[in-house]
Amino acid sequence: MCDEAVSALDVSIQSQILNLLLDLRREMGLTYLFVAHNLSVVQYVSDRVGVMYLGQMAELAGVDEIYAHPRHPYTIALLSAVPNPDPRVRKKRIFLEGDVPSPANPPSGCRFHTRCWLRKRLDNPEDCVTEEPEFREIGVGHQVACHHAERIDDAMVSELVPSGALAIRPASGGLADLMPPRAPKQPPVAPQSGTDTPATV
Ligand code: SF4
Repeated sequence: MCDEAVSALDVSIQSQILNLLLDLRREMGLTYLFVAHNLSVVQYVSDRVGVMYLGQMAELAGVDEIYAHPRHPYTIALLSAVPNPDPRVRKKRIFLEGDVPSPANPPSGCRFHTRCWLRKRLDNPEDCVTEEPEFREIGVGHQVACHHAERIDDAMVSELVPSGALAIRPASGGLADLMPPRAPKQPPVAPQSGTDTPATV
């Protein structure tokens, strides 16, 4: 479990720690549950990404799928907030209104309904307030908790999310510049007879 493991570190130290973690994962066949708010870091280290809002899973998918085809309004709002390194690129950024509600007393229905930009666009459908959305599959290995996820398409996403945030690998100009390409995944090394069994975590 890596909870905000690199969030307080200088970006060059971040890259060293992340690469060490990835080397250990490859050599020892580890699985990490990696908690972070930096979307470049999440994209760099993850195979699958879960986005949580008020203590509940809003969206879960493979890393390439969720960055290229996000379908929960909260995921899209997060990606929309990623700054684009090219100052000539102008995008409509999503500003979430209101305060974050208390997880101890969450809103009825969909927990995100008090701040959801999609609900506004759809003229405030009532089911967002009255029915808790099911965490359901909308594609292979892609799950989302939104009644109206099918109303979002790639054209809408590209209108709202800076193109750098949708790159399959992190955009240049930040952490990506300091990181080597990700090594291909390899299966864990099986113990050989006559040698010690590798430790597992
Ligand atoms: S269910 Fe409604 S309020 Fe919740 S994320 Fe979807 S559109 Fe927004």
